Amino acid sequence: MNRIYNFSAGPSTLPVSVLEDVSKNLTNYQGQGLSVMEMSHRSPSYMEIHANAKQSLRNLMNIPDTYEILFLQGGASTQFSSVPLNLLNPSGKADYILTGSFSKKAYKEALRYGDIQIAASSEEDDFTFIPNNDAINVRPDADYVHLCLNNTIYGTRFKPEQLPQFDNIPLVADMSSNILSEEYEVSKFGLIYAGAQKNMGPAGLTVVIVRKDLVGKAQDITPTMLDYATQIDKDSMYNTPPTFAIYVAVQVFAWLEEQGGIKAIEAINKEKAAKLYDYIDQSDLYQGTARKENRSIMNVTFRTLSEDLDKTFAKEAKEKGLYNLKGHRSVGGMRASIYNAMPMEGIDALIEFMKDFENENK
Ligand code: PMP
Repeated sequence: MNRIYNFSAGPSTLPVSVLEDVSKNLTNYQGQGLSVMEMSHRSPSYMEIHANAKQSLRNLMNIPDTYEILFLQGGASTQFSSVPLNLLNPSGKADYILTGSFSKKAYKEALRYGDIQIAASSEEDDFTFIPNNDAINVRPDADYVHLCLNNTIYGTRFKPEQLPQFDNIPLVADMSSNILSEEYEVSKFGLIYAGAQKNMGPAGLTVVIVRKDLVGKAQDITPTMLDYATQIDKDSMYNTPPTFAIYVAVQVFAWLEEQGGIKAIEAINKEKAAKLYDYIDQSDLYQGTARKENRSIMNVTFRTLSEDLDKTFAKEAKEKGLYNLKGHRSVGGMRASIYNAMPMEGIDALIEFMKDFENENK
């Protein structure tokens, strides 16, 4: 079929069966004579897709009824503003845990809207680790604590079992690069947000899952489009939603359901990541860059002994059909993003290549 193994951090590889199904229905969706792209978002056909998307995500993540699901636009980056605009009330204070570039961007954006402090940071060690829970300092009257569960660039994550919890202070989580990859209990969060372009579908859709009681106290300056209350009231259709991206997400949710849901994919994801890390750890050429106990199972970061060799690695890997293994421009080295849709064969092909490359460069 001439498909490459695509290790891109996002947009990233999608299940082939989903792409095939979407393409089969592209010009004539379910015999209706038009594409989903061409449908009114008010049409019964699209409304069904919309409702389906919400219900499937609710089932997959076991989202309690006390939470609303929103399908928004503007990427996870727009949530860096929406979160403080909506949730900085009553104290106007929020505390941020900095574990990488995206949580730092979220923190900087929040500074515009209230009294924001850093609760903990791993920046002093190039974000190679996740701070221990006892090193996190949160003000007792903070309106929320923000964290990024999986750090796409640095390859670290907060494991579900080490999630910090603070009495009566909601946790707000950026889950862009690990949503649907392993089981997290939604009730431990006040709000979860994620861009779709890793584990859910194409770019253009942003999912927000928010506890209902936190909504309705947005700052007066909040743009209508960013106010969660408006979006809940209009079922994410205050304006035209990203209909096609939502439609593809429905297919991805159905695919995940067929795999056995999050619990099943979590076991596969852990097996894929362990295989790769085990190989890296026993090798003389490669080094993992994240602290072992904080390793991501979605983004595996590593390097060789020299920057020149890192460049050759990515180039030669590409010649073998293994694409997008270059690390993020801000950190260098290599990064293999192995989201839900990356098959085990992709991991095996990568390890095979890494072995050959090591033998040639001893
Ligand atoms: N947070 C994380 C963890 C990410 O990985 C990304 C994008 N890669 C973002 C936020 C920004 O997402 P978007 O491009 O959808 O704004």
